[in-house]
Amino acid sequence: MGIKENLEEIRARIAAAAQSCGRSLDSVNLVVVSKTVPVDRIREGIAAGAVQLGENYIQEAREKIETLADQPLTWHFIGHLQSNKAKYAARLFDLIHSVDSVKLAKALDKEAKKVGKVQPILIQVNIAGEQTKSGVSEEGAVDLVKQVSQLANVAIKGLMTMPPYFNAPEKVRPFFRRLRELRDRIAEMDLPGVSTDELSMGMTGDFEAAIEEGSTIVRIGTAIFGERL
Ligand SMILES: *Cc1c(COP(=O)(O)O)cnc(C)c1O
Repeated sequence: MGIKENLEEIRARIAAAAQSCGRSLDSVNLVVVSKTVPVDRIREGIAAGAVQLGENYIQEAREKIETLADQPLTWHFIGHLQSNKAKYAARLFDLIHSVDSVKLAKALDKEAKKVGKVQPILIQVNIAGEQTKSGVSEEGAVDLVKQVSQLANVAIKGLMTMPPYFNAPEKVRPFFRRLRELRDRIAEMDLPGVSTDELSMGMTGDFEAAIEEGSTIVRIGTAIFGERL
């Protein structure tokens, strides 16, 4: 199947998942993950209606964002971000999903200030406590949110997670639920300047379960562009 058909199918599945749990379709945003995908194939996706793109690597994203500057796109940074790349991230991205330390948040705050913007971010939570994954621990999340909320040039919009990999979405569901419950606890604190509306969770193999657990941003690559090389 082509990119256009894949996108149509994913949209239909997102709509069905939202409907099955009584959510409105526009409460779920699709971020089309274009990491490692060449620009000509991304253009096919754009022609088929992709407007929000997700990238993992700063250098790669920089080139693509320049090349596609004439397109009305929103860019999401979803990969691991090192503080020394904050300068580029703050200039290039509309939403940074992967803030997991005060150090990184401060670096983004400084760079966002230089370009006169308030950088929208999500706090990435390592909900299963996996050694190999980035993200703040579930226990450390509230404290991180509190500290980051003090910074004037970054704005927290919600939480993101990359749960453990299983080929059965039902096994991932408990982790999505835990992120939502953590979000609800943070929302109850009513911290000044902190929005908790967004939950970035769900990928090709598990996005329907994520939507049922409250995801507002699904990040899908493989089901649209095929297996990455
Ligand atoms: C690559 C990636 C995705 C997309 O995963 P697919 O399984 O290809 O849909 C989503 N989120 C993050 C953080 C990624 O790195």
